[in-house]
Amino acid sequence: MVEDAEKSRITRCRRYALTTPKALNPVQGGFVKPDDMLGWGMLIQSTIGSHRIKISWGLMLVLVQCFGVPLLYAKVPVKLALIPEHPRPGEPVTVGMTAGTLEEKENGLFQAVLINTQGQGLTKASFFNLPIHTDGTSLKAAILTVPCTARPGPAWIHVEYAGRSIGKIELTIETRAFVSEEIPLDEANTALRTVQDPQKTAEAVVLWGILNRTGTAVYTSGPFTAPVTSTRRTSFFGDRRVFMYVDGSRSTSIHGGIDYGVPRGTEVRSCAAGKVVLARSRIVTGNSVIIEHLPGVYSLYYHLDHIAVPEGALVSSGTVLGQSGATGLATGPHLHWEIRVAGENTDPDAFVSRPVLDTNALLSKIR
Ligand SMILES: [Zn+2]
Repeated sequence: MVEDAEKSRITRCRRYALTTPKALNPVQGGFVKPDDMLGWGMLIQSTIGSHRIKISWGLMLVLVQCFGVPLLYAKVPVKLALIPEHPRPGEPVTVGMTAGTLEEKENGLFQAVLINTQGQGLTKASFFNLPIHTDGTSLKAAILTVPCTARPGPAWIHVEYAGRSIGKIELTIETRAFVSEEIPLDEANTALRTVQDPQKTAEAVVLWGILNRTGTAVYTSGPFTAPVTSTRRTSFFGDRRVFMYVDGSRSTSIHGGIDYGVPRGTEVRSCAAGKVVLARSRIVTGNSVIIEHLPGVYSLYYHLDHIAVPEGALVSSGTVLGQSGATGLATGPHLHWEIRVAGENTDPDAFVSRPVLDTNALLSKIR
């Protein structure tokens, strides 16, 4: 009996939550979560019930709207914008947000999460503040990537605060074809990919630590420029690769950047302003430079013959970072240029064709 009474009470509470006007629902940029309303409803009802006072949910709603609005519909008018709304696999998307009374909370707790129709989280990124204010509220942004393995179709970006969803915005992932290629490796390059080496592991840990760090500095906001003037590309972003080892075995991988087939000694320039966060020799990628441009956004330059900038230096767009070469795992002289967003490989061309952080466009679309 007690259980039945409890069940019926919960059912009524749920009905209340479900019949609450849509405009008050937080998932469309609203005010308070259904869970919270359920909790309030149960609390109020059990208090009244203990005094044997009958009250209809309709009357409860009237009371809530007259007196409880400031409490229940806490002022969290989250507004969102998304650019672009039709990205292709491998491309970045930028989420703009005004977070109302939540705006002063710790930024690291705000995250944008790309979720597919199966409910799986594909990528996520933290929000950061932009140096701009409108109507007294600050604009936050998060840049994240549609993985190059994402299936075309509808998807959602959920905005979470401390792990709880406070809003969402829909996008459509377009179709995209990628190149397939087979790469025969000689003995030395086979060993670079297959031999276990604690130093390789240690270098990978350092790299991962850098690429997953979301800072606060906005060093650039305009479109990027290619790091070399040559347009001769020997591999493309997202190529589905099969490495063919000397013993006849194979392994597959996806190419995370663009390879420019330029002669050894070609000047390699920073694709945008930023800070040098790594400039050193690594086993697999050879002489390597990594530049931080925006919170969570990094450009990487591999296989350099020579490095010309120290770690910690601030660079402009076009600053010479070094000369191209064939150090590390390379079948010939080339520049491997890569961009990572919140750790995810992202198509560099998408940064050249448009500014990844267009605050005016975000503000004009925010709703
Ligand atoms: Zn490459």
